[in-house]
Amino acid sequence: MYVGVAIDLALDRAFSYAVPAEFAEKLKVGQLLRVPFSGRMARGFALSISDDPPEGVPAERIKSVAAIEDANPFFSPAVLELVKWISRYTACPIELCLKAAVPAAVLKPTARAKELLYVESVPNPPGGLTKRQQELVCELSRVGGGWMAQIVKEFSTTEPTIRTLERKGAVTVEKRNMRRDPLSGRRVVPTSPIPLNDMQKTALGVVTQSERPVLLFGVTGSGKTEVYLQAIAAELEAGRGAIVLVPEIALTPQTVSRFAGRFGGRVAVLHSALSDGERYDEWHRIRTGEAQVVVGPRSAVFAPVRNLGLIVVDEEHDQSYKQEDAPRYHARDVAVMRARLEGCRVVLGSATPSLETWYNARRGKYQVALMPNRVKGRELPSVTLVDMEDEIRRTGRVPIFSQPLIDAISARLARGEQTILFLNRRGYARTWTCGKCGWVASCPNCSGSESRLPYTYHRHDQCLRCHVCGSWTHIPEECPECHSREFGFTGVGTQRAEDALSRCFPSARILRMDADSTSRRMTHDDILAKFRTGQADILLGTQMIAKGLDFPNVTLVGVLNADTALNLPDFRASERTYQLLQQVAGRAGRAEKPGEVFIQTFQKDAPAVKAAAGRGGYAPFAEAELAARKDGPFPPWCRFSTLLFKSRDANLAESWCRLYAASLTNWAEASEARSGAWLKVSEPQPAALEQVEGWYRWQLTLRSEKASAITSAYRWITAERPVPEGVRAILDVDAVNLM
Ligand code: ADP
Ligand code: ZN
Ligand code: ZN
Repeated sequence: MYVGVAIDLALDRAFSYAVPAEFAEKLKVGQLLRVPFSGRMARGFALSISDDPPEGVPAERIKSVAAIEDANPFFSPAVLELVKWISRYTACPIELCLKAAVPAAVLKPTARAKELLYVESVPNPPGGLTKRQQELVCELSRVGGGWMAQIVKEFSTTEPTIRTLERKGAVTVEKRNMRRDPLSGRRVVPTSPIPLNDMQKTALGVVTQSERPVLLFGVTGSGKTEVYLQAIAAELEAGRGAIVLVPEIALTPQTVSRFAGRFGGRVAVLHSALSDGERYDEWHRIRTGEAQVVVGPRSAVFAPVRNLGLIVVDEEHDQSYKQEDAPRYHARDVAVMRARLEGCRVVLGSATPSLETWYNARRGKYQVALMPNRVKGRELPSVTLVDMEDEIRRTGRVPIFSQPLIDAISARLARGEQTILFLNRRGYARTWTCGKCGWVASCPNCSGSESRLPYTYHRHDQCLRCHVCGSWTHIPEECPECHSREFGFTGVGTQRAEDALSRCFPSARILRMDADSTSRRMTHDDILAKFRTGQADILLGTQMIAKGLDFPNVTLVGVLNADTALNLPDFRASERTYQLLQQVAGRAGRAEKPGEVFIQTFQKDAPAVKAAAGRGGYAPFAEAELAARKDGPFPPWCRFSTLLFKSRDANLAESWCRLYAASLTNWAEASEARSGAWLKVSEPQPAALEQVEGWYRWQLTLRSEKASAITSAYRWITAERPVPEGVRAILDVDAVNLM
């Protein structure tokens, strides 16, 4: 018998070993093995088992497996298949993909389960104790028992005192395995299923019966989470497990409590803040079947849940599902693939589906369950667009706060209700805009009548560049529309907004939250806690405050600059703007009081802004956006990849980017004949962020109808012309971040 082993060094291939007779019975794929490798011992995972010796290797050169490190496989055959698929799909070495699927802490011997002393009271303590000892025994029998360290602290006693009690037979002390529980110390209130409304019942029916992946398309507050909970309950009933993926930022104690409150100890939580020990214990509780429901961010898609029945991807449009390091997988796509390999169900939930998911739904790959209303007849907030052109005409300048918004804030202050003000800072100061008429410098190749792709400003050489096709131009002297020379970045910082706000409302209590404010005065949590407990009237912040926050007393949300998101040099800018505005709007009126939203914009006719304001809704917007992307083409009509060249040496990054661009362009001409799929290679160009931490960055973009055409081209060129030491060529197959 022979086994193919992926060694724990990035070599991107499996090595064959003979299996000694003593292991033949026990060896399984997915196990961690110890094998001899170039003169020393290495660890590696068993990928495949076969009866035939590997071809082309003389029998005497084949070494034998030295040991099975852990009898329990770390990967089920299905997860192993999944990992192999990711390796092929993202063109990433298999070892890195295996590593992404098992947390490092799980493989670390130091993180193994911990044995600690546990003190327990006995039913009938003997007599002959001192008064102080009697008191202590009495207290202990009240609490039953606890870890030694905890008891010593809680009852202000010492370990020798407890040991004396043990000798007298008044308590027992023993070593026990301590489970490091990330939920310990947290108050989890048990909940029972809520009777579903008709809309939820129908959705639950679709989720539990569909053979295809399901898009659960429900507005915020429509009760999607309750549907997930009941779908999971049905799986548990049938003896199967479930994985719930949530965006990183949404993995708050509140989210975790909702699942722990329903399923108690059957829930395992995996998130980035766990200690090695906690992660080890949670992972092993899943592997042994003790926990059947896993809640976690993108990497939880690999959790070794036994007999998996359902995967939930909540907020499936969220960008944190994309891993930005190798392997650059998208957890939503991995979830769909895992469901296919395991033959289980998968539900993608969102109030603002990604266009990729919408596209798959409309061509029948996914089934849709709709939940268009909030539970208990609660209203969605009313949205008002404020045309900032009007404000300029009225006041003769660009105000930070429009009159309608000021009036609305005043009304909230008078009623003792709270306001959230949202200032978008992402991508700020990267597009070139006319300060007078709002004209935005955009790429002529990549903008159509319906869509626009702004240029990115590069200060280094005063150029404007398109990061999709690679075209560039010099900065124009004046605005081609209105001939104004007031060019540049019209943007407002949170600090300036806060100053203006306190001038308007001198007595209002204002909290500001952005990257600076959180690092200096208070933590993120402090600020939110202060706002939640009513110690402030207005919360002013960046995109940090956009997601997942639920404040019952907030009845007004103001978006100060909807346009900043629209003007991002990214073909997904319009989609992102819509998602952002919807999310922000969803913060208003979560409880009994109805909510109001004001969106300040210079582009009140932009489809994303109109749709977010409730004119037409998501479907017409998505259709218009799909149509606008078709000609490019842009995803979901094609695969869009970036190939980034990084070097400490600016010349090397540039020259290798140019060399690859030329070779790949030649390859692309023959590609269609070769694989039946077209491949489009951009001009070489500096990346939007030209220099990061001393690394110079150049990039290409690659587009094709098939991801495999892109990965084949990449494999070919990296084998044909491997980059030298000091240069890295990094492929991101389904690039989400164009910066
Ligand atoms: P979503 O996940 O779609 O934003 P949630 O599941 O958070 O919505 O539901 C919003 C609120 O409504 C929660 O407090 C939830 O407990 C409650 N809820 C959900 N379903 C029902 C129902 N059928 N009847 C009453 N309340 C419900
Ligand atoms: Zn102008
Ligand atoms: Zn372009």
